[in-house]
Amino acid sequence: MGEHTDQYDVDLFVIGGGSGGVRAARIAATHGARVRIAEEYRLGGTCVIRGCVPKKLFVYAAHYAHDFEDAAGYGWTVEGARFDWSTLIANKDKEIARLEGAYRANLERTGVEIVAQRAVVDGPHAVRLADGTRVTARYILIATGGHPNLGLDIPGRELGITSNEIFHLERLPPRIVIQGAGYIALEFASLLATLGSDVTVVHRGHKVLAGFDEEIRERLADELAQNGVTFAFGATIESIHAVGAEKRVRLHDGRDLLADEVMLAIGRVPNTTGLGLDAVGVQLTANGAIVVDAESRSSVPSIYAVGDVTDRVQLTPVAIREGHSFADGVFGGKPWKVSYEVIPTAVFTEPEIGTVGMTEAQARAQGRRLNIYKADFRPLKATLSGRASRVLMKLVVDQKDDRLLGAHLVGPDSGEMVQLIAVAMNMGATKADFDRTMALHPSSAEELVTLRTKHHSSDPLPEVSSEATPAI
Ligand code: FAD
Repeated sequence: MGEHTDQYDVDLFVIGGGSGGVRAARIAATHGARVRIAEEYRLGGTCVIRGCVPKKLFVYAAHYAHDFEDAAGYGWTVEGARFDWSTLIANKDKEIARLEGAYRANLERTGVEIVAQRAVVDGPHAVRLADGTRVTARYILIATGGHPNLGLDIPGRELGITSNEIFHLERLPPRIVIQGAGYIALEFASLLATLGSDVTVVHRGHKVLAGFDEEIRERLADELAQNGVTFAFGATIESIHAVGAEKRVRLHDGRDLLADEVMLAIGRVPNTTGLGLDAVGVQLTANGAIVVDAESRSSVPSIYAVGDVTDRVQLTPVAIREGHSFADGVFGGKPWKVSYEVIPTAVFTEPEIGTVGMTEAQARAQGRRLNIYKADFRPLKATLSGRASRVLMKLVVDQKDDRLLGAHLVGPDSGEMVQLIAVAMNMGATKADFDRTMALHPSSAEELVTLRTKHHSSDPLPEVSSEATPAI
């Protein structure tokens, strides 16, 4: 980095060893910076320890339930299949410990010093560790992530669990009430129901997955209901009472639900409390997130922040990019900005959602005239498995220049497909580019290049319904 000064103990002190912090620390170190990183819990952060990774392992576990059922139509007899929750938990814990070790090794390999303690800001160029040590730093990066929102302080709230605890339950809860209808709530609702729990989702709104394309929201709710998830819409939890080993959940309308666990999944709150930010003048938003500019710099020039603590887009790849961009810009002399325009995301419910770009409503709100292309079909695999699930694909295309503005999919492997649609979108793909792309047959993805049913945005969207028809 060229300008080493020994005025400070380190060039960079990173608070938080999650997705954003670890990437920033490693890259800054490879640019020659003297870097220290503090992690108060486990290296790897939310995503690795109690988020994306263990969640996806649970999702795989749940998939087998349907796979065993579906196999019968293909001639398989699977006898004596049974699911053991504690085996899943133990194997998952082993894999998470391995990953945590890999994170540690990668940091050490690049020469980053790891401090297994809580750290707080103690001046524009200083942090204080839990043991009282004060460390001075030319730059401080706050990458402390967030924690589950516990909502209103209703009676019995402490009886509820969050996504933090769900990964360590001693048994698969026979009955669970989940409050919330965002992606985390629904992913757990879906996988637990598939594994055999009796799941009720309590949501104060009337639709799941706010912010997603309307048709995708409706389709997913229908599919989850078909898979055994019960929805209590327009409902809030008034209290939770322990009745022996059970929990009685009282809803605002007086209804009682009996459950073994109650999971609160109503969003996440940035980890800024008690971090010493007020005292140094780091500006926060109303919900406690750190306000940063496009280069992730806070209102204090020596203090930067990346990832969930900034509440920009709460996804791991975004936190990683922000951390990387910060390190390249500040220590590598290679500034670049993270682009937030094309962010593919998945919801790992069954069926899965993959989505990228604008929803139809967002595109319309910008005053664009649209062509909407949709396919709604029964996947080939379902013909013999007998599963009722359908696939919905929707492309939002700008009428002006035929560019793809958004893609919204519900069905098997939607996340995998959307990752690659995002590449095409980044290159400015038009619907004509999709059309001239040869289909891969037989697949679900081929529907994306053979979509012909067009609806103008002002048209009422008719129900498109077809069996998966060979494209030959
Ligand atoms: P984090 O990964 O949260 O890391 C912050 C770290 O800082 C933590 O390890 C914490 O212990 C530590 N820390 C906090 N305060 C201090 C302190 N004062 N001193 C020392 N250490 C401190 N994203 C996806 O992209 N795909 C998914 O499928 C996905 N699934 C998810 C599922 C669940 C259940 C959850 C909860 C999240 C999921 N996410 C997913 C979101 C993803 O986990 C986060 O966006 C990502 O982890 C953010 O990274 P980060 O570096 O900002 O913070």
